[in-house]
Amino acid sequence: MAEGSDGLTIAMKNPLYTKIICGGFCPFYRAGKEDLTCGTYNFLVGIVTAAELKVAVREIKAVSDLFCDAEIKKFICRQCDFLIDGCDFRAGTGSRSCGGHTIVSGLMRKSLIPFGLGEQ
Ligand code: SF4
Repeated sequence: MAEGSDGLTIAMKNPLYTKIICGGFCPFYRAGKEDLTCGTYNFLVGIVTAAELKVAVREIKAVSDLFCDAEIKKFICRQCDFLIDGCDFRAGTGSRSCGGHTIVSGLMRKSLIPFGLGEQ
């Protein structure tokens, strides 16, 4: 990974994950921004294969009920490059959460990601 001129970490997206996480769940995703990843995207890439993720997200609703949001905020969002200046959801504007957050929250509701995820 490298740091871009705007200070954001540059990590090329994997198109298999991007199709599921960003294309399938993120209201902010715009094709072409393939060098920007958020904290929950990076987290999911680290714990599950794209094939496993494709199956796991089947019953997750597109709009999150924010299950375990406090835990996601504490252990994942605080490491996200968008947290300080780029996440309307965390800024409290009433915006929806990003796609990765929606998936992590949904997987936690289905007990497919255990509580205490920050201790893994
Ligand atoms: S909800 Fe915001 S801070 Fe948390 S991972 Fe998504 S973009 Fe980053």
